[in-house]
Amino acid sequence: MIRTRFAPSPTGYMHIGNLRTALYEYLIAKREGGKFLLRIEDTDAERFVEGAVDVIYNTLKMVNLKHDEGPDIGGPYGPYVQSERKDIYVEYAKKLIDTGAAYYCFCSKARLESLPKKSEDIGGYDNHCRGLDPSENLRKGLGYVIRQMIPEGQTTFNDLVFGDITVDNEELDDQILIKGDGLPTYNFANVVDDHLMEITHVVRGVEYLSSAPKYNLLYEAFGWEVPAYVHLTHIVGQDGAKLSKRRGDASFEDLLALGYLPEAIMNYIALLGWSPGDTREFFTLSELTEAFDIKGLSKSPSAFDITKLTWMNGEYFKKMEGDKFYEMALPVLKEAVKKEGVDFKALAEIVKTRISFLKDIPELLDFIDCLPEYETDLYIHKKMKTDEAISLESLRTVIIYAENRQEPWENDAIFAELTELAEKEGLKNGQILWPIRTALSGKPTSPCGASELMVLFGKDESVRRMKKGVELLGK
Ligand code: GLU
Repeated sequence: MIRTRFAPSPTGYMHIGNLRTALYEYLIAKREGGKFLLRIEDTDAERFVEGAVDVIYNTLKMVNLKHDEGPDIGGPYGPYVQSERKDIYVEYAKKLIDTGAAYYCFCSKARLESLPKKSEDIGGYDNHCRGLDPSENLRKGLGYVIRQMIPEGQTTFNDLVFGDITVDNEELDDQILIKGDGLPTYNFANVVDDHLMEITHVVRGVEYLSSAPKYNLLYEAFGWEVPAYVHLTHIVGQDGAKLSKRRGDASFEDLLALGYLPEAIMNYIALLGWSPGDTREFFTLSELTEAFDIKGLSKSPSAFDITKLTWMNGEYFKKMEGDKFYEMALPVLKEAVKKEGVDFKALAEIVKTRISFLKDIPELLDFIDCLPEYETDLYIHKKMKTDEAISLESLRTVIIYAENRQEPWENDAIFAELTELAEKEGLKNGQILWPIRTALSGKPTSPCGASELMVLFGKDESVRRMKKGVELLGK
């Protein structure tokens, strides 16, 4: 059975790259009816952030990535929090010491700092303690770390995105497995846990690709099966640089606060680095689960395009079920429109297809409570073939029609009557409709048509606004 795990470090926010990793892990497992685990990687005590684990739970919940095993759910491999598994790592590190694949290192910090670094990525450890008999130092109670003994030769591993990769072991450092404080490094804990938790596919950021040979050597030293690796490329900004909180790039929470919908964010990030192989752009989580294939993962970095996400957000509002949108938009609508007797359901319908964010609503509806001051040139519209003179005549006609019209005021009926009226008067539809739109909204664009506006305002207010238009045009 396929088993994947999301292994975030509790940093207090959810980087969208991490969320995308979680999504792909979920999809890889769920596509095959497998299990998706949550493991908290909190062995870096310096990075501890209060409440950070809750951010992880809440995010996963919000985006519907339900884990099957984890710290809050349990499972046969627990605890799923690395700081609570301390003893396990030490036990396994000692096994490696026994087989000669790891060793105690007693080098002081000062000594280590004096060593030149081999390169940006490779530490500078000179393997000083490799051949040392540790018994005397251990007896004296000297502090130590446990290091991996990298053998000579070459290491080849396979990644499902990047293919076979071979490195000279010379390029690998005798990395620390257990730190001076007794906690494991990520580099060690991930291998032990992924094995013990029976993870079949290790999915993570490409920044870990260069460490994969060291992990392979650990799996080999233990005699464990190496999991399938899936390294995901970076998400970069429009400038090509890797996204990061430090750079001020948006995390999941930031995007939510800006008004993006969780489902739009997930849909968008699913396509950052993965392609379904066709032109489909909209996916629910279950559609993604069906469509997802590791073969569609990209090798090159994907650029985060906030404009595209904004467009997608608007599309999600358009697609949203009417009642759900109404419920979501109602507080904003009530804040934006104070006028009595307004049909908020109708308003919700009107704005639903015209926004990217809920926060766009107030500006769209800012003409309802109070007719804005406007200039009569708003009545001039080439395409509608209308100008000030035509508008004046049209409004006079429509006022008479409106004053005589009985309740109920209903959009389809009014629209039909207005077009009939236009025909009777020898006018184009636009020559009747545009002046109404202008008179009722006082704006160059309104979020709905003439008849909808008339229904929205009802007879009295519609007539009042049109009379105001006549007054302005007649001056
Ligand atoms: N704790 C690591 C991180 O947050 C996880 C890497 C992995 O998935 O192995 O980057």
